[in-house]
Amino acid sequence: MSKFVFVTGGVVSSLGKGITVASLGRLLKSRGLTVSVLKFDPYLNVDPGTMSPFQHGEIFVTEDGGQCDLDLGHYERFIDTNLTKDSNVTSGKIYWSILSRERKGGYDGGTVQVIPHVTNEIKDRIWSLAKSSGADVILVEIGGTVGDIEGLPFMEAIRQFRMDVGRESSLFIHVTLVPYVAAAKELKTKPTQHSVKELRSIGIQPDVIVCRSEAPITEDIRAKVALFCNVEEEAVIPNPDVESIYEIPLCFAEARLDEIVLEKLNLTASPADLSSWRQLVSVIKNLRDRVVVGIVGKYVSLPDAYLSVAEALRHAGFSHGVDVEVRWIEAEDLERGRTELLEDLDGILVPGGFGQRGVEGKITAAQYAREHKVPYFGICLGMQCAVMELARNVAKLEDAGSVEFGSCAHPVISFIPGHPEVTGLEGSMQVGTRACQIQPDTHSMKWYGQTVVQERHRNRYVINKKYLESLAEAGMRVAGLSTDGLVEIMELEGHPWFVGTLFHPEFKSRPTRPHPLFVGFIQAILDQKKG
Ligand code: GLN
Repeated sequence: MSKFVFVTGGVVSSLGKGITVASLGRLLKSRGLTVSVLKFDPYLNVDPGTMSPFQHGEIFVTEDGGQCDLDLGHYERFIDTNLTKDSNVTSGKIYWSILSRERKGGYDGGTVQVIPHVTNEIKDRIWSLAKSSGADVILVEIGGTVGDIEGLPFMEAIRQFRMDVGRESSLFIHVTLVPYVAAAKELKTKPTQHSVKELRSIGIQPDVIVCRSEAPITEDIRAKVALFCNVEEEAVIPNPDVESIYEIPLCFAEARLDEIVLEKLNLTASPADLSSWRQLVSVIKNLRDRVVVGIVGKYVSLPDAYLSVAEALRHAGFSHGVDVEVRWIEAEDLERGRTELLEDLDGILVPGGFGQRGVEGKITAAQYAREHKVPYFGICLGMQCAVMELARNVAKLEDAGSVEFGSCAHPVISFIPGHPEVTGLEGSMQVGTRACQIQPDTHSMKWYGQTVVQERHRNRYVINKKYLESLAEAGMRVAGLSTDGLVEIMELEGHPWFVGTLFHPEFKSRPTRPHPLFVGFIQAILDQKKG
């Protein structure tokens, strides 16, 4: 039977609970255990697919087409495992299934209540992931902060869960903040004490407390947290600020977090083999040169909106031993004529996106990259913008555009042929993994080194094949095709690196296994810099 670790957060949000869970997952995996992860998000949306990145950050896409919380990206990157849509459950999903059952008379005339119906549905999701994954350990993260109204049913469900499975099969970890008060030159444990008190008031006593802090947690602070929060001293785990998030598993290993978790769950496992992870961290700490890549988007004031893209660039940098500095460029600034923002970039990346705002700026970025021979990587909307630009300025198809933004003389980007017209927000979206056939003699073939690849998608529109001939005459050719003939990759000829993909390669990049197209992009940048 699986063992279950529940992770809650206290004091404030954005403590990096997701990275804590991901890092623990990495440690357990390095000890030979199999791990799966479940993120509960207490908000009422059914999934984050329709939420603005300003609200929510990036939408992470799983292999099976789940539109998920960005924490799933951390889990996949750290644990190096593919998750499914069952790993992200919102209150919306829970209520949706309860209400559908109720409408079908599934409750036999009974009153439907938070306890037991909602809590049972939550517990069922945990059991069902345990069953489908067969993992030794299921890590369950509860989104939000203890005390949030929406989070209460989840807290109650995990409280009951421990009663159901017993102490040796379940464990509670609470992640809190230990703030440094500069005026007093002191770390303060009071917020942590209060947050644990709040947790206890709903019946949960944490077994382990992970303390986020800017300054190192001293032994006396550790002792104080232990005493006031009723946990063992060794189970107070420091989680200090570090240069790279990838150092966290090593910090936890040093604090023996994996040992403590295994002891409490009465699990035996082989010693941790962290050699590849240590190697990764040593590479990160010894990066030689720096290259600057501009990400041109419309949510750049919130870099979490492009989290996986930025991470994928960094991973590719690690493989070349170079530090990739991401420069965030507001697409609308380019529309205001501020093209000087593009001038000292080593590479330009236009990521995915929806809606018209900023599109003309992205097209300007693609034009700049094409004309100045700056390596360019266009992802989904980024590819569509590059195609519109080439169509307008080289193929001379005046008013070339995308049907996403209304009608135009030359819809070079159009609906997926045969796909249903938009009904509701998700109607015509194509999400998840599809095979792509790589064409010979292309950058893509050189870097993938294989003819068929599987990549993750999230789009409604594609390149209109009617225009492929004009685009080819203008120098852009198809480098990848799906089995049903959709254009998956375009490359510009006679340019050091100008590649656009319909899919999102960033979701498959891992720090220890960077994505080949990102590796190729950084290589092109380095070659270009060498002249
Ligand atoms: N809005 C475009 C489409 O739906 C691009 C989507 C994306 O970049 N993921 O096709």
